[in-house]
Amino acid sequence: MEPTSRPEKRLSQRRPPFYGRELTFDYTNIPHDFPRKFVPAQVPFDWENLSRLFDQLKTAPVDSEADLEGWIAREDELNAVIYEQKALRMINYSRQTDNQEYTKAYTEFIQEYDPRIKVASFELSKRYVSASSRKQLPREKFGNADKIRENALSLFREANVSLEKDDAELQQKYQNVLGAMTVPFRGEERTLQQMGRFLEETDRGVREEAWRLVQGRVLQDRVALDEIYSKMIDVRDRVSRNAGFKNYRDYVFRQKNRFDYAPEDCVRFHEAVERYLVPLAREIDKERMGNLGLNSLRPWDVLVDPQGRPPLAPFADADELIAGCARVFRKVDSQLSGYFARMMQLELLDLSSRKGKAPGGFQDEFAEARLPFIFMNAAKRDYDVRVLMHESGHSFHSFLMRDAGLPFYNANMNLPSEFAEVASTTMELVGGEHLEGTFYSAQDARRSNRSEVEQMVKLFTWVATIDAFQHWVYTHPGHSTEERGDEWSRIFTRFAGLESYEGFDDTLRYRWQRQLHLFQYPFYYIEYGIATVGALGIWLHYRRDPEGGIAAYKRALSLGSSKPLPKLFEAAELKWGFGPVEVERYAGELRSLWRAYA
Ligand SMILES: [Zn+2]
Repeated sequence: MEPTSRPEKRLSQRRPPFYGRELTFDYTNIPHDFPRKFVPAQVPFDWENLSRLFDQLKTAPVDSEADLEGWIAREDELNAVIYEQKALRMINYSRQTDNQEYTKAYTEFIQEYDPRIKVASFELSKRYVSASSRKQLPREKFGNADKIRENALSLFREANVSLEKDDAELQQKYQNVLGAMTVPFRGEERTLQQMGRFLEETDRGVREEAWRLVQGRVLQDRVALDEIYSKMIDVRDRVSRNAGFKNYRDYVFRQKNRFDYAPEDCVRFHEAVERYLVPLAREIDKERMGNLGLNSLRPWDVLVDPQGRPPLAPFADADELIAGCARVFRKVDSQLSGYFARMMQLELLDLSSRKGKAPGGFQDEFAEARLPFIFMNAAKRDYDVRVLMHESGHSFHSFLMRDAGLPFYNANMNLPSEFAEVASTTMELVGGEHLEGTFYSAQDARRSNRSEVEQMVKLFTWVATIDAFQHWVYTHPGHSTEERGDEWSRIFTRFAGLESYEGFDDTLRYRWQRQLHLFQYPFYYIEYGIATVGALGIWLHYRRDPEGGIAAYKRALSLGSSKPLPKLFEAAELKWGFGPVEVERYAGELRSLWRAYA
Protein backbone atom coordinates (compact mmCIF):
# COMPACT_ATOMS: atom_id res chain seq x y z
CA MET A 1 0.00 0.00 0.00
CA GLU A 2 1.08 3.53 -0.71
CA PRO A 3 1.46 6.09 2.03
CA THR A 4 -1.44 8.55 2.12
CA SER A 5 0.50 11.51 0.92
CA ARG A 6 2.16 9.78 -2.02
CA PRO A 7 -0.50 8.13 -4.17
CA GLU A 8 0.92 9.76 -7.30
CA LYS A 9 3.78 7.25 -7.14
CA ARG A 10 1.15 4.89 -8.39
CA LEU A 11 0.02 7.46 -10.97
CA SER A 12 3.49 8.34 -12.16
CA GLN A 13 4.24 4.70 -12.95
CA ARG A 14 1.39 4.80 -15.43
CA ARG A 15 2.57 8.07 -16.86
CA PRO A 16 3.24 7.81 -20.59
CA PRO A 17 7.03 7.86 -21.05
CA PHE A 18 7.09 10.85 -23.42
CA TYR A 19 6.04 13.09 -20.56
CA GLY A 20 9.10 12.05 -18.63
CA ARG A 21 11.54 14.44 -20.15
CA GLU A 22 9.43 17.56 -20.44
CA LEU A 23 7.75 17.45 -17.03
CA THR A 24 10.42 17.42 -14.39
CA PHE A 25 8.33 17.99 -11.26
CA ASP A 26 8.12 14.74 -9.28
CA TYR A 27 6.16 14.70 -6.06
CA THR A 28 8.10 11.71 -4.73
CA ASN A 29 11.21 13.94 -4.60
CA ILE A 30 9.59 16.28 -2.11
CA PRO A 31 11.04 15.78 1.36
CA HIS A 32 8.58 15.31 4.20
CA ASP A 33 10.48 16.62 7.21
CA PHE A 34 7.66 16.49 9.74
CA PRO A 35 6.95 12.89 10.78
CA ARG A 36 3.31 12.02 11.34
CA LYS A 37 2.13 11.27 14.84
CA PHE A 38 -1.55 10.59 14.27
CA VAL A 39 -2.30 9.70 10.65
CA PRO A 40 -0.68 6.31 9.94
CA ALA A 41 2.19 6.62 7.47
CA GLN A 42 1.11 3.63 5.39
CA VAL A 43 -2.52 4.30 4.68
CA PRO A 44 -4.21 4.99 1.34
CA PHE A 45 -6.08 8.26 0.95
CA ASP A 46 -9.71 7.16 0.83
CA TRP A 47 -12.89 8.05 2.63
CA GLU A 48 -12.92 4.91 4.74
CA ASN A 49 -9.60 5.78 6.32
CA LEU A 50 -10.37 9.47 6.62
CA SER A 51 -13.71 8.91 8.30
CA ARG A 52 -12.08 6.54 10.79
CA LEU A 53 -9.62 9.29 11.75
CA PHE A 54 -12.42 11.85 12.01
CA ASP A 55 -14.38 9.43 14.22
CA GLN A 56 -11.39 8.94 16.49
CA LEU A 57 -11.17 12.69 17.01
CA LYS A 58 -14.90 12.96 17.58
CA THR A 59 -14.66 10.73 20.62
CA ALA A 60 -11.16 11.53 21.92
CA PRO A 61 -11.10 13.35 25.29
CA VAL A 62 -10.82 17.15 25.30
CA ASP A 63 -11.59 17.73 28.99
CA SER A 64 -8.24 19.01 30.22
CA GLU A 65 -6.15 21.68 28.56
CA ALA A 66 -3.43 19.08 27.83
CA ASP A 67 -6.01 16.76 26.20
CA LEU A 68 -7.28 19.59 24.04
CA GLU A 69 -3.81 20.70 22.92
CA GLY A 70 -3.02 17.14 21.86
CA TRP A 71 -6.38 16.90 20.12
CA ILE A 72 -5.74 20.14 18.19
CA ALA A 73 -2.32 18.87 17.09
CA ARG A 74 -3.87 15.64 15.74
CA GLU A 75 -6.66 17.47 13.98
CA ASP A 76 -4.11 19.86 12.49
CA GLU A 77 -2.03 16.99 11.13
CA LEU A 78 -5.11 15.43 9.55
CA ASN A 79 -5.99 18.78 7.95
CA ALA A 80 -2.48 19.15 6.56
CA VAL A 81 -2.66 15.66 5.02
CA ILE A 82 -6.04 16.50 3.46
CA TYR A 83 -4.98 19.89 2.09
CA GLU A 84 -1.76 18.46 0.71
CA GLN A 85 -3.73 15.80 -1.13
CA LYS A 86 -6.07 18.41 -2.54
CA ALA A 87 -3.17 20.60 -3.68
CA LEU A 88 -1.42 17.64 -5.27
CA ARG A 89 -4.48 16.60 -7.24
CA MET A 90 -5.14 20.17 -8.33
CA ILE A 91 -1.53 20.67 -9.42
CA ASN A 92 -1.38 17.37 -11.30
CA TYR A 93 -4.60 18.22 -13.07
CA SER A 94 -3.52 21.78 -13.91
CA ARG A 95 -0.22 20.52 -15.30
CA GLN A 96 -1.89 17.97 -17.55
CA THR A 97 -5.59 18.65 -18.09
CA ASP A 98 -5.49 16.07 -20.90
CA ASN A 99 -4.53 13.27 -18.50
CA GLN A 100 -7.75 11.43 -17.64
CA GLU A 101 -6.38 9.88 -14.48
CA TYR A 102 -5.48 13.31 -13.05
CA THR A 103 -8.79 14.81 -14.12
CA LYS A 104 -10.67 11.99 -12.44
CA ALA A 105 -8.66 12.25 -9.22
CA TYR A 106 -9.20 15.98 -8.94
CA THR A 107 -12.90 15.85 -9.80
CA GLU A 108 -13.32 13.08 -7.24
CA PHE A 109 -11.80 15.29 -4.58
CA ILE A 110 -14.09 18.23 -5.36
CA GLN A 111 -17.26 16.17 -5.69
CA GLU A 112 -16.76 13.30 -3.25
CA TYR A 113 -14.28 14.41 -0.62
CA ASP A 114 -14.83 18.13 -0.17
CA PRO A 115 -18.49 17.95 0.94
CA ARG A 116 -17.84 15.04 3.34
CA ILE A 117 -14.75 16.70 4.79
CA LYS A 118 -16.77 19.87 5.31
CA VAL A 119 -19.40 18.02 7.35
CA ALA A 120 -16.84 16.01 9.36
CA SER A 121 -14.73 19.12 10.11
CA PHE A 122 -17.83 20.91 11.24
CA GLU A 123 -18.53 18.12 13.73
CA LEU A 124 -15.01 18.51 15.09
CA SER A 125 -15.49 22.26 15.42
CA LYS A 126 -18.62 21.65 17.46
CA ARG A 127 -16.68 19.39 19.77
CA TYR A 128 -13.89 21.93 20.08
CA VAL A 129 -16.14 24.89 20.81
CA SER A 130 -18.12 22.98 23.42
CA ALA A 131 -14.94 21.98 25.31
CA SER A 132 -14.69 24.16 28.40
CA SER A 133 -10.93 23.51 28.48
CA ARG A 134 -10.45 25.78 25.47
CA LYS A 135 -10.70 28.80 27.76
CA GLN A 136 -7.44 27.67 29.38
CA LEU A 137 -5.46 27.49 26.13
CA PRO A 138 -2.66 30.07 25.92
CA ARG A 139 -4.15 33.00 23.95
CA GLU A 140 -0.83 33.88 22.37
CA LYS A 141 -0.76 30.66 20.36
CA PHE A 142 -4.40 29.64 20.08
CA GLY A 143 -6.34 32.91 20.36
CA ASN A 144 -6.74 33.81 16.71
CA ALA A 145 -7.65 30.34 15.46
CA ASP A 146 -10.08 29.99 18.38
CA LYS A 147 -11.88 33.18 17.41
CA ILE A 148 -12.10 32.16 13.74
CA ARG A 149 -13.50 28.73 14.59
CA GLU A 150 -16.04 30.04 17.06
CA ASN A 151 -17.18 32.60 14.49
CA ALA A 152 -17.68 30.00 11.75
CA LEU A 153 -19.70 27.82 14.06
CA SER A 154 -21.89 30.69 15.22
CA LEU A 155 -22.86 31.45 11.61
CA PHE A 156 -23.89 27.93 10.69
CA ARG A 157 -27.59 27.35 9.91
CA GLU A 158 -28.98 24.05 8.72
CA ALA A 159 -31.38 25.91 6.41
CA ASN A 160 -28.43 27.47 4.58
CA VAL A 161 -26.90 24.21 3.42
CA SER A 162 -29.26 23.84 0.47
CA LEU A 163 -29.15 27.57 -0.30
CA GLU A 164 -25.36 27.39 -0.56
CA LYS A 165 -25.76 24.51 -2.96
CA ASP A 166 -28.10 26.68 -5.06
CA ASP A 167 -25.47 29.42 -5.02
CA ALA A 168 -22.79 26.99 -6.20
CA GLU A 169 -25.03 25.84 -9.04
CA LEU A 170 -25.65 29.42 -10.13
CA GLN A 171 -21.88 29.99 -10.12
CA GLN A 172 -21.46 26.98 -12.35
CA LYS A 173 -24.10 28.37 -14.71
CA TYR A 174 -22.23 31.66 -14.88
CA GLN A 175 -19.02 29.86 -15.77
CA ASN A 176 -20.79 27.85 -18.44
CA VAL A 177 -22.33 30.93 -20.07
CA LEU A 178 -19.03 32.79 -20.04
CA GLY A 179 -16.94 29.77 -21.03
CA ALA A 180 -19.07 29.14 -24.11
CA MET A 181 -18.34 32.60 -25.52
CA THR A 182 -16.23 32.63 -28.67
CA VAL A 183 -15.98 34.97 -31.63
CA PRO A 184 -14.92 34.39 -35.22
CA PHE A 185 -11.86 36.50 -35.96
CA ARG A 186 -9.48 36.24 -38.93
CA GLY A 187 -10.84 32.89 -39.98
CA GLU A 188 -10.63 31.30 -36.53
CA GLU A 189 -13.09 30.77 -33.69
CA ARG A 190 -11.42 32.36 -30.66
CA THR A 191 -12.12 32.55 -26.93
CA LEU A 192 -12.43 35.97 -25.30
CA GLN A 193 -9.07 35.41 -23.55
CA GLN A 194 -7.42 34.77 -26.89
CA MET A 195 -8.88 38.03 -28.20
CA GLY A 196 -7.12 39.98 -25.43
CA ARG A 197 -3.85 40.34 -27.28
CA PHE A 198 -5.45 42.09 -30.27
CA LEU A 199 -6.19 45.02 -27.97
CA GLU A 200 -2.43 45.57 -27.73
CA GLU A 201 -1.98 45.84 -31.52
CA THR A 202 -0.63 49.15 -32.72
CA ASP A 203 -3.10 49.16 -35.65
CA ARG A 204 -6.11 50.99 -34.22
CA GLY A 205 -8.53 49.48 -36.74
CA VAL A 206 -7.61 45.96 -35.59
CA ARG A 207 -8.10 46.91 -31.95
CA GLU A 208 -11.50 48.43 -32.60
CA GLU A 209 -12.68 45.46 -34.63
CA ALA A 210 -11.56 43.00 -31.94
CA TRP A 211 -13.13 45.05 -29.16
CA ARG A 212 -16.48 45.42 -30.98
CA LEU A 213 -16.65 41.70 -31.69
CA VAL A 214 -16.02 40.75 -28.06
CA GLN A 215 -18.45 43.29 -26.62
CA GLY A 216 -21.12 42.31 -29.12
CA ARG A 217 -20.76 38.68 -28.09
CA VAL A 218 -20.93 39.43 -24.36
CA LEU A 219 -24.05 41.52 -24.81
CA GLN A 220 -25.86 38.62 -26.48
CA ASP A 221 -26.02 36.94 -23.06
CA ARG A 222 -26.75 40.03 -20.98
CA VAL A 223 -30.26 38.92 -20.05
CA ALA A 224 -29.13 35.44 -19.01
CA LEU A 225 -26.29 36.89 -16.91
CA ASP A 226 -28.62 39.43 -15.34
CA GLU A 227 -30.99 36.63 -14.35
CA ILE A 228 -28.21 34.55 -12.83
CA TYR A 229 -26.99 37.50 -10.78
CA SER A 230 -30.52 38.40 -9.59
CA LYS A 231 -31.05 34.85 -8.41
CA MET A 232 -27.69 34.85 -6.63
CA ILE A 233 -28.52 38.08 -4.82
CA ASP A 234 -31.82 36.58 -3.71
CA VAL A 235 -30.19 33.35 -2.45
CA ARG A 236 -27.43 35.26 -0.65
CA ASP A 237 -29.93 37.62 0.93
CA ARG A 238 -31.88 34.66 2.33
CA VAL A 239 -28.67 33.07 3.66
CA SER A 240 -27.85 36.24 5.58
CA ARG A 241 -31.37 36.60 7.01
CA ASN A 242 -31.36 32.98 8.15
CA ALA A 243 -28.18 33.74 10.07
CA GLY A 244 -29.81 36.75 11.71
CA PHE A 245 -28.27 39.56 9.66
CA LYS A 246 -29.95 42.60 8.15
CA ASN A 247 -28.34 42.02 4.76
CA TYR A 248 -25.74 39.93 2.94
CA ARG A 249 -23.06 42.59 3.17
CA ASP A 250 -23.11 42.54 6.96
CA TYR A 251 -23.19 38.73 6.92
CA VAL A 252 -20.14 38.48 4.65
CA PHE A 253 -18.13 40.81 6.85
CA ARG A 254 -18.62 38.36 9.71
CA GLN A 255 -18.22 35.26 7.56
CA LYS A 256 -14.89 36.50 6.21
CA ASN A 257 -13.62 37.14 9.75
CA ARG A 258 -13.50 40.89 9.24
CA PHE A 259 -13.24 41.68 12.92
CA ASP A 260 -10.97 44.67 12.37
CA TYR A 261 -12.82 46.75 9.79
CA ALA A 262 -16.41 47.55 8.96
CA PRO A 263 -18.40 48.45 5.81
CA GLU A 264 -18.00 52.15 6.72
CA ASP A 265 -14.21 51.78 6.43
CA CYS A 266 -14.70 50.56 2.88
CA VAL A 267 -16.97 53.49 2.10
CA ARG A 268 -14.23 55.85 3.37
CA PHE A 269 -11.74 54.00 1.14
CA HIS A 270 -14.01 54.56 -1.90
CA GLU A 271 -14.19 58.27 -1.11
CA ALA A 272 -10.42 58.50 -0.70
CA VAL A 273 -9.81 56.74 -4.01
CA GLU A 274 -12.22 59.09 -5.74
CA ARG A 275 -10.51 62.09 -4.24
CA TYR A 276 -6.82 61.16 -4.53
CA LEU A 277 -6.44 58.46 -7.16
CA VAL A 278 -9.10 59.11 -9.79
CA PRO A 279 -7.43 62.43 -10.73
CA LEU A 280 -4.12 60.58 -11.18
CA ALA A 281 -5.81 57.89 -13.29
CA ARG A 282 -7.21 60.64 -15.51
CA GLU A 283 -3.82 62.32 -15.76
CA ILE A 284 -2.36 58.99 -16.92
CA ASP A 285 -5.12 58.68 -19.55
CA LYS A 286 -4.57 62.25 -20.68
CA GLU A 287 -0.91 61.61 -21.33
CA ARG A 288 -1.85 58.42 -23.17
CA MET A 289 -4.26 60.36 -25.38
CA GLY A 290 -1.55 62.87 -26.19
CA ASN A 291 0.98 60.18 -27.03
CA LEU A 292 -1.48 58.35 -29.23
CA GLY A 293 -2.49 61.66 -30.86
CA LEU A 294 -6.19 61.16 -30.10
CA ASN A 295 -8.98 63.61 -29.33
CA SER A 296 -11.03 60.94 -27.67
CA LEU A 297 -9.78 57.88 -25.81
CA ARG A 298 -11.91 54.87 -26.68
CA PRO A 299 -12.12 51.57 -24.77
CA TRP A 300 -9.95 49.89 -27.44
CA ASP A 301 -7.12 52.40 -26.85
CA VAL A 302 -6.25 51.57 -23.26
CA LEU A 303 -3.97 48.53 -23.61
CA VAL A 304 -1.73 49.44 -26.53
CA ASP A 305 1.71 50.88 -25.78
CA PRO A 306 1.13 54.65 -26.05
CA GLN A 307 4.44 55.18 -27.82
CA GLY A 308 3.91 52.42 -30.34
CA ARG A 309 6.92 50.43 -29.14
CA PRO A 310 7.05 46.65 -29.47
CA PRO A 311 6.30 44.79 -26.20
CA LEU A 312 9.17 44.30 -23.73
CA ALA A 313 10.78 40.87 -24.11
CA PRO A 314 12.62 40.14 -20.84
CA PHE A 315 13.47 36.46 -21.40
CA ALA A 316 13.46 33.74 -24.05
CA ASP A 317 12.34 30.70 -22.06
CA ALA A 318 11.42 29.48 -18.59
CA ASP A 319 15.06 28.80 -17.67
CA GLU A 320 15.97 32.40 -18.39
CA LEU A 321 12.96 33.62 -16.43
CA ILE A 322 14.01 31.54 -13.42
CA ALA A 323 17.67 32.58 -13.68
CA GLY A 324 16.66 36.25 -13.94
CA CYS A 325 14.40 36.09 -10.88
CA ALA A 326 17.11 34.23 -8.96
CA ARG A 327 19.44 37.18 -9.70
CA VAL A 328 16.76 39.64 -8.59
CA PHE A 329 16.20 37.84 -5.28
CA ARG A 330 19.96 37.63 -4.62
CA LYS A 331 19.95 41.41 -4.70
CA VAL A 332 16.93 41.59 -2.41
CA ASP A 333 17.93 39.29 0.47
CA SER A 334 20.07 36.19 1.03
CA GLN A 335 17.47 34.29 3.08
CA LEU A 336 14.69 34.86 0.54
CA SER A 337 16.96 34.01 -2.36
CA GLY A 338 17.86 30.80 -0.50
CA TYR A 339 14.16 29.89 -0.48
CA PHE A 340 13.95 30.47 -4.23
CA ALA A 341 17.06 28.33 -4.77
CA ARG A 342 15.37 25.57 -2.76
CA MET A 343 12.33 25.72 -5.06
CA MET A 344 14.61 25.48 -8.09
CA GLN A 345 16.44 22.53 -6.59
CA LEU A 346 13.22 20.64 -5.78
CA GLU A 347 11.68 21.67 -9.11
CA LEU A 348 8.69 23.28 -7.46
CA LEU A 349 8.25 25.61 -10.44
CA ASP A 350 6.20 24.83 -13.54
CA LEU A 351 6.37 27.94 -15.64
CA SER A 352 6.22 27.38 -19.40
CA SER A 353 3.08 27.12 -21.50
CA ARG A 354 2.44 23.86 -23.27
CA LYS A 355 -0.44 21.92 -24.73
CA GLY A 356 -2.76 20.44 -22.15
CA LYS A 357 -1.71 22.83 -19.41
CA ALA A 358 -4.45 24.84 -17.62
CA PRO A 359 -4.38 28.63 -18.19
CA GLY A 360 -3.39 31.22 -15.60
CA GLY A 361 -1.03 31.08 -12.66
CA PHE A 362 -1.16 30.31 -8.95
CA GLN A 363 0.90 29.38 -5.94
CA ASP A 364 -0.19 26.52 -3.74
CA GLU A 365 1.34 24.71 -0.80
CA PHE A 366 1.97 21.09 0.05
CA ALA A 367 0.65 21.53 3.55
CA GLU A 368 2.22 18.46 5.10
CA ALA A 369 5.68 18.92 3.56
CA ARG A 370 5.26 22.67 4.19
CA LEU A 371 6.66 23.48 0.74
CA PRO A 372 5.20 25.79 -1.92
CA PHE A 373 4.63 25.18 -5.62
CA ILE A 374 4.35 27.78 -8.39
CA PHE A 375 2.35 27.24 -11.55
CA MET A 376 2.12 29.69 -14.45
CA ASN A 377 2.05 30.05 -18.22
CA ALA A 378 5.01 32.23 -19.10
CA ALA A 379 4.92 33.76 -22.57
CA LYS A 380 8.04 35.95 -22.73
CA ARG A 381 6.19 39.02 -21.46
CA ASP A 382 7.05 41.72 -18.89
CA TYR A 383 3.89 40.62 -17.10
CA ASP A 384 5.36 37.13 -16.53
CA VAL A 385 8.32 38.54 -14.61
CA ARG A 386 5.87 40.29 -12.27
CA VAL A 387 3.78 37.14 -11.91
CA LEU A 388 6.77 35.04 -10.91
CA MET A 389 7.92 37.67 -8.41
CA HIS A 390 4.35 37.84 -7.07
CA GLU A 391 3.96 34.08 -6.64
CA SER A 392 7.47 33.90 -5.16
CA GLY A 393 6.30 36.37 -2.50
CA HIS A 394 3.53 33.89 -1.58
CA SER A 395 6.14 31.14 -1.46
CA PHE A 396 8.43 33.15 0.82
CA HIS A 397 5.45 33.47 3.13
CA SER A 398 5.18 29.65 3.24
CA PHE A 399 8.88 29.22 3.96
CA LEU A 400 8.93 31.87 6.68
CA MET A 401 5.91 30.32 8.42
CA ARG A 402 7.56 26.92 8.20
CA ASP A 403 10.82 28.24 9.66
CA ALA A 404 8.88 29.97 12.45
CA GLY A 405 7.51 26.54 13.37
CA LEU A 406 3.90 27.63 13.06
CA PRO A 407 1.26 24.91 13.10
CA PHE A 408 -0.94 24.73 10.00
CA TYR A 409 -3.87 26.47 11.73
CA ASN A 410 -1.62 29.46 12.44
CA ALA A 411 -0.23 29.39 8.89
CA ASN A 412 -1.86 28.86 5.50
CA MET A 413 -5.06 27.34 6.81
CA ASN A 414 -6.38 30.60 8.27
CA LEU A 415 -4.32 33.12 6.33
CA PRO A 416 -6.34 36.29 5.58
CA SER A 417 -5.96 37.29 1.94
CA GLU A 418 -5.75 40.93 3.03
CA PHE A 419 -2.30 39.97 4.27
CA ALA A 420 -1.36 37.02 2.03
CA GLU A 421 -1.46 39.46 -0.89
CA VAL A 422 0.82 41.86 0.99
CA ALA A 423 3.49 39.14 0.88
CA SER A 424 3.14 38.73 -2.89
CA THR A 425 2.51 42.31 -4.01
CA THR A 426 5.45 43.61 -1.96
CA MET A 427 7.78 41.21 -3.76
CA GLU A 428 6.42 42.38 -7.12
CA LEU A 429 7.36 45.95 -6.18
CA VAL A 430 10.64 45.25 -4.39
CA GLY A 431 11.75 42.95 -7.21
CA GLY A 432 10.95 45.79 -9.62
CA GLU A 433 13.83 47.75 -8.05
CA HIS A 434 16.29 45.23 -9.50
CA LEU A 435 15.16 44.71 -13.08
CA GLU A 436 18.08 46.64 -14.52
CA GLY A 437 20.92 44.27 -15.32
CA THR A 438 18.82 41.19 -14.51
CA PHE A 439 16.20 41.46 -17.24
CA TYR A 440 16.47 44.91 -18.77
CA SER A 441 18.50 47.93 -19.75
CA ALA A 442 18.04 50.96 -17.47
CA GLN A 443 15.53 52.41 -19.93
CA ASP A 444 13.42 49.26 -20.21
CA ALA A 445 13.45 48.79 -16.42
CA ARG A 446 11.97 52.28 -16.09
CA ARG A 447 9.35 51.47 -18.71
CA SER A 448 8.35 48.29 -16.84
CA ASN A 449 8.19 50.10 -13.50
CA ARG A 450 6.17 52.94 -14.92
CA SER A 451 3.63 50.54 -16.32
CA GLU A 452 3.47 48.79 -12.90
CA VAL A 453 2.67 52.14 -11.25
CA GLU A 454 -0.05 52.83 -13.81
CA GLN A 455 -1.59 49.41 -13.25
CA MET A 456 -1.55 49.94 -9.51
CA VAL A 457 -3.45 53.21 -9.87
CA LYS A 458 -6.02 51.53 -12.12
CA LEU A 459 -6.28 48.62 -9.71
CA PHE A 460 -7.28 50.96 -6.89
CA THR A 461 -9.95 52.69 -8.96
CA TRP A 462 -11.31 49.33 -10.12
CA VAL A 463 -11.34 47.94 -6.56
CA ALA A 464 -13.38 50.95 -5.47
CA THR A 465 -15.78 50.49 -8.43
CA ILE A 466 -16.41 46.79 -7.82
CA ASP A 467 -16.62 47.13 -4.05
CA ALA A 468 -18.95 50.16 -4.08
CA PHE A 469 -21.22 48.34 -6.54
CA GLN A 470 -21.51 45.32 -4.26
CA HIS A 471 -22.25 47.46 -1.23
CA TRP A 472 -25.20 48.90 -3.15
CA VAL A 473 -26.34 45.58 -4.65
CA TYR A 474 -26.59 43.69 -1.36
CA THR A 475 -28.03 46.55 0.70
CA HIS A 476 -30.78 46.97 -1.91
CA PRO A 477 -32.10 43.43 -2.39
CA GLY A 478 -35.16 43.27 -4.60
CA HIS A 479 -33.88 46.02 -6.91
CA SER A 480 -34.86 45.79 -10.59
CA THR A 481 -32.30 45.07 -13.31
CA GLU A 482 -33.09 48.57 -14.59
CA GLU A 483 -32.10 50.11 -11.26
CA ARG A 484 -28.99 47.94 -11.12
CA GLY A 485 -27.83 49.12 -14.55
CA ASP A 486 -28.40 52.74 -13.56
CA GLU A 487 -26.49 52.37 -10.30
CA TRP A 488 -23.59 50.57 -12.00
CA SER A 489 -23.31 53.29 -14.64
CA ARG A 490 -23.25 55.94 -11.91
CA ILE A 491 -20.54 54.13 -9.89
CA PHE A 492 -18.48 53.29 -12.99
CA THR A 493 -18.47 56.93 -14.07
CA ARG A 494 -17.53 58.06 -10.57
CA PHE A 495 -14.23 56.14 -10.64
CA ALA A 496 -13.57 55.97 -14.40
CA GLY A 497 -10.61 57.31 -16.32
CA LEU A 498 -11.11 59.24 -19.55
CA GLU A 499 -12.18 56.48 -21.94
CA SER A 500 -15.38 57.35 -23.75
CA TYR A 501 -18.17 54.80 -24.23
CA GLU A 502 -20.11 57.15 -26.50
CA GLY A 503 -22.30 55.05 -28.77
CA PHE A 504 -21.84 51.97 -26.54
CA ASP A 505 -24.32 52.67 -23.76
CA ASP A 506 -25.22 49.01 -23.27
CA THR A 507 -21.59 47.91 -23.10
CA LEU A 508 -21.00 50.32 -20.24
CA ARG A 509 -24.26 49.37 -18.54
CA TYR A 510 -23.39 45.65 -18.51
CA ARG A 511 -19.64 46.01 -18.05
CA TRP A 512 -19.85 44.41 -14.58
CA GLN A 513 -21.04 41.10 -16.00
CA ARG A 514 -17.51 40.09 -17.00
CA GLN A 515 -16.12 40.64 -13.50
CA LEU A 516 -15.96 37.06 -12.28
CA HIS A 517 -15.54 38.01 -8.62
CA LEU A 518 -19.02 39.54 -8.48
CA PHE A 519 -20.44 36.12 -9.20
CA GLN A 520 -17.89 33.77 -7.66
CA TYR A 521 -16.22 35.67 -4.82
CA PRO A 522 -18.60 38.31 -3.46
CA PHE A 523 -16.92 41.13 -1.51
CA TYR A 524 -13.45 39.70 -2.11
CA TYR A 525 -12.23 42.63 -4.20
CA ILE A 526 -11.58 45.07 -1.37
CA GLU A 527 -8.97 42.64 -0.04
CA TYR A 528 -6.76 43.46 -3.05
CA GLY A 529 -7.10 47.12 -2.14
CA ILE A 530 -6.15 46.59 1.50
CA ALA A 531 -3.21 44.33 0.60
CA THR A 532 -1.93 46.81 -1.98
CA VAL A 533 -1.97 49.57 0.63
CA GLY A 534 0.16 47.33 2.89
CA ALA A 535 2.52 46.38 0.07
CA LEU A 536 3.04 50.02 -0.93
CA GLY A 537 3.94 50.80 2.67
CA ILE A 538 6.63 48.11 2.88
CA TRP A 539 7.96 48.92 -0.59
CA LEU A 540 8.40 52.62 0.22
CA HIS A 541 10.12 51.61 3.46
CA TYR A 542 12.42 49.39 1.37
CA ARG A 543 13.24 52.27 -1.00
CA ARG A 544 14.35 54.42 1.95
CA ASP A 545 16.03 51.60 3.89
CA PRO A 546 16.37 48.25 2.09
CA GLU A 547 17.55 46.28 5.10
CA GLY A 548 14.92 47.67 7.45
CA GLY A 549 12.17 47.17 4.88
CA ILE A 550 13.02 43.52 4.28
CA ALA A 551 13.39 42.87 8.01
CA ALA A 552 9.89 44.27 8.60
CA TYR A 553 8.53 42.18 5.71
CA LYS A 554 10.03 38.97 7.07
CA ARG A 555 8.97 39.69 10.64
CA ALA A 556 5.32 40.16 9.63
CA LEU A 557 5.23 37.14 7.31
CA SER A 558 6.71 34.93 10.01
CA LEU A 559 3.60 35.52 12.14
CA GLY A 560 1.45 33.67 9.60
CA SER A 561 -2.17 33.83 10.66
CA SER A 562 -1.43 33.68 14.39
CA LYS A 563 -2.32 37.36 14.86
CA PRO A 564 -5.16 39.61 13.69
CA LEU A 565 -4.67 41.96 10.71
CA PRO A 566 -3.75 45.12 12.67
CA LYS A 567 -0.99 43.20 14.46
CA LEU A 568 0.36 41.85 11.17
CA PHE A 569 0.48 45.39 9.76
CA GLU A 570 2.21 46.63 12.91
CA ALA A 571 4.79 43.84 12.70
CA ALA A 572 5.55 45.16 9.21
CA GLU A 573 6.04 48.60 10.81
CA LEU A 574 2.86 49.92 9.21
CA LYS A 575 -0.01 51.73 10.81
CA TRP A 576 -3.12 49.61 10.33
CA GLY A 577 -5.63 51.26 8.02
CA PHE A 578 -6.63 51.89 4.42
CA GLY A 579 -8.41 55.19 4.77
CA PRO A 580 -7.86 58.74 3.48
CA VAL A 581 -4.53 59.17 5.29
CA GLU A 582 -2.94 56.14 3.61
CA VAL A 583 -4.58 56.65 0.22
CA GLU A 584 -3.56 60.31 0.05
CA ARG A 585 0.03 59.53 0.99
CA TYR A 586 0.41 56.66 -1.48
CA ALA A 587 -1.33 58.56 -4.27
CA GLY A 588 1.30 61.25 -3.84
CA GLU A 589 4.14 58.72 -3.91
CA LEU A 590 2.71 56.96 -6.96
CA ARG A 591 2.36 60.28 -8.77
CA SER A 592 5.97 61.26 -8.19
CA LEU A 593 7.24 57.82 -9.17
CA TRP A 594 5.14 57.87 -12.31
CA ARG A 595 6.79 61.16 -13.24
CA ALA A 596 10.25 59.98 -12.26
CA TYR A 597 9.99 56.86 -14.43
CA ALA A 598 8.90 58.87 -17.51
ZN1 LIG B 1 -1.58 36.53 -5.06
